[in-house]
Amino acid sequence: MLDLHPLASAYLFNTPVASLPHVTTLQFFLLIISSLELINQSILHLSPLLKPPVIPVRGKHLDALSAKDVAFIIFNKLMIPPFVYLITSYCHSNPSSIDWTLPSPPSSPLPFLHTFLLPLPLLFLTYDFFYSLLHRFLHIQAVYSYIHKHHHHQKAPSRGNSDAVNVHPFEFLAGEYCHWWALFLLNCAGVRVHILSVATFMFLGGVLATLNHTRWNAKVSLFGVTLFEAASHDVHHRLPLTNYGQYIMFWDYVLGTYRPYDEADRVNASWQKPEIRGIVGKVAA
Ligand SMILES: [Zn+2]
Ligand SMILES: [Zn+2]
Repeated sequence: MLDLHPLASAYLFNTPVASLPHVTTLQFFLLIISSLELINQSILHLSPLLKPPVIPVRGKHLDALSAKDVAFIIFNKLMIPPFVYLITSYCHSNPSSIDWTLPSPPSSPLPFLHTFLLPLPLLFLTYDFFYSLLHRFLHIQAVYSYIHKHHHHQKAPSRGNSDAVNVHPFEFLAGEYCHWWALFLLNCAGVRVHILSVATFMFLGGVLATLNHTRWNAKVSLFGVTLFEAASHDVHHRLPLTNYGQYIMFWDYVLGTYRPYDEADRVNASWQKPEIRGIVGKVAA
């Protein structure tokens, strides 16, 4: 078994476990920021090569970013490295709940697969449950104009990560916090999670949130079941009070707010009004 925990200690937390050079705060910060931009630019520039279906613009595109947009985008992006550090620190200080070992022959890979693969869908399900609740709360009419309305100025997202993080900082930090909360709850329930599962969850989360804010309908299906469809979030930008999920639409299915993508749907801001959509924003047939 290869134990990654002492390596993390030596590199990230500067503990004298090994005589290895540690990563400075600035290096860690730059590594995370540059990785995010690389992922965002790769998605924006490489996706067309795969010729994915295009989601037509059905509302006004936010062509010019205001000073407030730029300030929110920069602030929120700068908040990502501290958050990654926070969640890494949590994982580092909880080795009984986080599996840091990698199998090496001849040891069986099954324990690794158990802590790596099994928690992934649980992390997404738990995250999206709380994110959906948060998103619903932000759409309550009395709250909407103070925080979440800013994100809905963009009716046809196209800038990937930049449009995704163009939200009020409160909303961004609460959404980021949901990632740690999902992991913490799984650990409390006795689910041991591999550090690579945490990393995959965070990485895929960034990729899927970026894809949600492009004009390409990226879709992930398993055995005929759609797990992710970027157009579902475009539906939310067209018709508020539908499709609250960030990564999956499972809880919208369960709570009756799922609306399948219809190319003909146009932006209709009146869908934000609860007297029209009902108290819980339930989608009529
Ligand atoms: Zn959005
Ligand atoms: Zn919304």
